[in-house]
Amino acid sequence: MKVTIIGSGDAFGSGGKFNTCFHLKTEKINLLIDCGATSLIGLKKFNFEPADLDYILVSHLHGDHFGGIPFIILDFLRKERTKVLTIIGPKGVEGKILALLDLLYPDLIHQINSDLIQFIEFQTDKIEDFTDFKLKTFEVLHSPSSLPHGLKLFMDDKIIAFSGDTEWCENLISLADEADLFICECNWYKINGKGHLNYETLLKNISKLNSKRILLNHLGDEALENQEYFEIPIAEDGLEIHL
Ligand SMILES: [Zn+2]
Ligand SMILES: [Zn+2]
Repeated sequence: MKVTIIGSGDAFGSGGKFNTCFHLKTEKINLLIDCGATSLIGLKKFNFEPADLDYILVSHLHGDHFGGIPFIILDFLRKERTKVLTIIGPKGVEGKILALLDLLYPDLIHQINSDLIQFIEFQTDKIEDFTDFKLKTFEVLHSPSSLPHGLKLFMDDKIIAFSGDTEWCENLISLADEADLFICECNWYKINGKGHLNYETLLKNISKLNSKRILLNHLGDEALENQEYFEIPIAEDGLEIHL
């Protein structure tokens, strides 16, 4: 399996990084974990064909995590696409994405072949089987109205865990457990704010995280200014990881 970091940034474009988006490729499928507002540009920059996507998973309903989906749909409409795109996210994901699409490009909804795009709401705290992979989601601590979740994927004998956006919470321990790759948000270095994790808190709890590899995502300005002090690797746009 190949993981390519399409975007590893926050909502503010800190450090010039694209919004959060990770591309997973196996022999059978192409999947995105989150699809922030800049993700169509990121996919093209790193030479991916958006029409090849089979799945988009959405951790929570903030624009830097799902705001790129209308542009992916817009791009599809120019292609002879015959395979289904399945978008999996929290409760209400279909309504939010279609409302956003309608605001950005009025009338586009009527051009969509609804047989080629399906929406599924994930169930929290239980393993769901999507044939090509299994998924377990965990509630995390972030803006509650965005329905924040961590995502744990079981694919091709590998486990990929993704924290989404969250401050420290005990669910991160189960989420990261036995993961081959744990992508963890680390918005701050020292700042102790609500809704996001800082590096010092992560380090204090690192012994509880039983994953083979950790990669930090979603660094804001204050974290980027202090990145020389980070001992855990930081995700960089364009980086490829083979698992
Ligand atoms: Zn975010
Ligand atoms: Zn968020």
